[in-house]
Amino acid sequence: TQMNIMSAISTIFILVIISSFTYTIITIFRQKKLSLIKNDFINNMTHELKTPISTISLACQALRDKDVQKSETLYQNYINVINEENKRLGMMAEKVLQTAQLEKGKLRLNKVGFNFHDVIEDAIKKIDLQLKSRHGRISTQLGAEFSFVEADKVHLVNVIFNLLDNAIKYSHESPEIKISTENVNKGILIHVSDKGMGISKVNQKKIFDTLYRISTGNVHNVKGFGLGLSYVKAIVELHGGYINLESEIKKGSTFSVFIPFGFE
Ligand code: ADP
Repeated sequence: TQMNIMSAISTIFILVIISSFTYTIITIFRQKKLSLIKNDFINNMTHELKTPISTISLACQALRDKDVQKSETLYQNYINVINEENKRLGMMAEKVLQTAQLEKGKLRLNKVGFNFHDVIEDAIKKIDLQLKSRHGRISTQLGAEFSFVEADKVHLVNVIFNLLDNAIKYSHESPEIKISTENVNKGILIHVSDKGMGISKVNQKKIFDTLYRISTGNVHNVKGFGLGLSYVKAIVELHGGYINLESEIKKGSTFSVFIPFGFE
C-alpha cells in the first residue's frame, strides 16, 4: 500500500504540473492575441490622428497665403476645414476617454425623464451630415406607445448615434437604414437595421469586445477603433437592458436594444 500511496501522490503531482502548464500556455496565447489587437489599435489610432493633424496644418499654411486672405470665401472655407477636423479630433479623444472610464468602472449614469423618441430624433440630427455625404436615407417607424423612460439621455443618444454610424460605415453606396420601436415587457425595444455588408456568425459573438474589428475583406478601409459597440453594450447593460444582433452576410444587420422604463 506504501507503493499505492506513492503512485497516487505522483499522479496528483503530474496532473497538477500538466494543468498549470496548460494554463500557462493558454495565458500566453491570450496575451499574445491581446497585444496584437492593441498594436492594431495603436496603428489605427496614429493613422487617424495623422490625417486631421496634417489637414489642419495644410489649412493653416493656406491661410497664411496673401491671395487666400483676400478672398472671403476661400478664407471661410479653410476656417471651416480647421473647425471640422478639430471637432473630429475632439470626438476621437472623447471616445477613447469614455472607454477608459468604462474599463475603470467609473462611469455614472445621470438619469432624467424624457421621451425616448426624442433621443432617436437627436441622434438622427447628429448623423445627418454623414448620411447626406453618403446619399443615405433613414426611415423611422416609432411604434412604441409608451416611450417615456428614466435614463441617461446623453449616453443613450451616443448609443443610437454609434449604431447609426456603424450602419452607414458598413453599408455600400447609399445606405438604407430603418429605425423602429416597440414596447416589450416594461421597456422599449429599438431596432436599427441596415442593408449593409452583414456580419458572419463567428464575428457576431466577438464584435462587442473592446477593440475588436472584423479584419477580413475590405472592411479595414472603413475607419474605426473597435470601441463603438463595446461602449454601446456597456451603456445598455448599465441601464439594465440588453443588446441583440441579427445579421446575415451581404444582406444586412439588425441591432436591437432593450431599455427598461427605469421607474416603477
Ligand atoms: P469600429 O466601427 O470603430 O470598428 P465597433 O465596435 O463600432 O468598432 O464595431 C466593431 C466591428 O463590428 C466593426 O469593425 C465592424 O467590422 C463590425 N460592425 C459593426 N456594425 C456593423 C454593421 N452595422 N454592419 C456590419 N458590420 C458591422
